[in-house]
Amino acid sequence: MKIARLPLARLTTLGVGGEAEVWTVETLADLVQATQAPYRVLGNGSNLLVSDAGVPERVIRLSGEFAEWNPDLSGWVGAGALVPSLLQASARLGLSGLEGLHGVPAQVGGAVKMNAGTRFGEMADALEVVELFHDGRLHHFGPAELGFRYRHSGLPEGSIVTRVKLKLTPSSEEAVRARIALVDAARKGQPKKKSAGCAFKNPPGDSAGRLIDVKGLKGTTVGKAMISLEHGNFLVNLGGATAAEMYALIRKVQSVLPLEVEWEIWGEVTPAEAEVSR
Ligand SMILES: Cc1cc2nc3c(=O)[nH]c(=O)nc-3n(C[C@H](O)[C@H](O)[C@H](O)COP(=O)(O)OP(=O)(O)OC[C@H]3O[C@@H](n4cnc5c(N)ncnc54)[C@H](O)[C@@H]3O)c2cc1C
Repeated sequence: MKIARLPLARLTTLGVGGEAEVWTVETLADLVQATQAPYRVLGNGSNLLVSDAGVPERVIRLSGEFAEWNPDLSGWVGAGALVPSLLQASARLGLSGLEGLHGVPAQVGGAVKMNAGTRFGEMADALEVVELFHDGRLHHFGPAELGFRYRHSGLPEGSIVTRVKLKLTPSSEEAVRARIALVDAARKGQPKKKSAGCAFKNPPGDSAGRLIDVKGLKGTTVGKAMISLEHGNFLVNLGGATAAEMYALIRKVQSVLPLEVEWEIWGEVTPAEAEVSR
């Protein structure tokens, strides 16, 4: 196990956030020790806006046995494994089930927690068993027991996904790659700059990106935080943005549209005083 104070900006895709005590756990004994004080679990940090002051809780990262998986994707897959790596392996093996997650830069644990996915499929569809660490021991659940719905799971409070068994269907490499290409085509136009994916939840039957576009908000900046010109629901870090700047941008959007934030906010974040410009 490694314990170090690290800037969370380095461990999140948005690239903002102050320091925290990061516990990188490799075994169940590590996990038991790490969870003896208040903690948060970090996946690949791709859905997080972390305060500039960091967070006071321990931040647990899964490594070692929690990131292992068999090359043929049989048996247990560690929750710290990266979804894009598993998807590539499934394509080579001609196993179908993960294609809907193409382009989602999550770890398995984060993808389970958020029920990540696209209109082509979501994490819950590809699960047979989920192993959770909760109340000091391991529990096993079928997906029907975990309250999955659109971008949401009902994992018990404080539980940590440790491993999963995937439910994949034999297909062919060609067919799997064709489905990945379909998802890829639908993702065209999404910005490459640092982000945490879509910042706002889509309201029923509409798209937050479209609404932001219609209001003429694309290109709005606060310091180094910008509403992407390519996609209105992507708030991007132009390099060196602060959490306060990102949050000021969120509030700017919310001052004209009743949109709910999709990102998870860690710690105290207040909007920057910085000038909003276009
Ligand atoms: C470029 C880009 C594109 C994206 N596209 C999509 C998309 O198409 N669809 C989509 O759904 N999302 C998308 N996202 C958002 C993001 O990838 C997902 O929300 C993803 O599920 C987050 O996983 P993560 O491992 O990064 O988790 P993190 O962001 O690190 O954490 C998210 C939540 O999961 C919890 N968590 C993480 N690991 C565990 C664990 N082992 N056990 C319990 N809880 C855990 C965290 O505590 C936190 O509550 C995108 C993000 C980016 C940057």
